[in-house]
Amino acid sequence: MEGNERYVSGNSKTHDFKSEREALVSGQNPFVSVLGCSDSRIAPEYAFDTARGDLFAIRVAGNFVTDEGLASLEYAVAVLGAPLILVLGHESCGAISAGIKAVKDHTVFPGHIPKLTDALKPSIEKVLNQPGSLIDNATAQNVKDSVNRLKNASPLLTDALSKGTLKIVGGVYRLASGKVDLIA
Ligand SMILES: [Zn+2]
Repeated sequence: MEGNERYVSGNSKTHDFKSEREALVSGQNPFVSVLGCSDSRIAPEYAFDTARGDLFAIRVAGNFVTDEGLASLEYAVAVLGAPLILVLGHESCGAISAGIKAVKDHTVFPGHIPKLTDALKPSIEKVLNQPGSLIDNATAQNVKDSVNRLKNASPLLTDALSKGTLKIVGGVYRLASGKVDLIA
């Protein structure tokens, strides 16, 4: 969150990529694994002003948990020893918008895009009748549901949680300010 404050205020560190690259040839030691959206406006390494080797990223449009994404997160925790997982949603998410169109208007998207909208449907349906902005509510619900799914992913993540070596949190990235608000 301190890195996010630097990013928001325009005081990101200057990274010497050449020396960072060379220092990390023998391994990596990420302190966080981020499950974020593929959206080109949100690069988690920039948003938290992290260096090479700091942040293990899993990105899929709509930032929901896939089997392969879960396997990657388990690798980050069990093999690399990452002590924190962050599920990072964001404002104006195109995948969430598409999911809402699929739920409300029964829009059928071409190709494999329904794989995304189908995965997001349960979270969207939970907040359909809530007051306020549907896309904001669905974005928050999807983050919370993804955090809960990870918290119950046995055995690797649940074991690390119960040992106290892992925390799982969720946040939403604000597009205009770059600020991340923790919501789960
Ligand atoms: Zn998105």
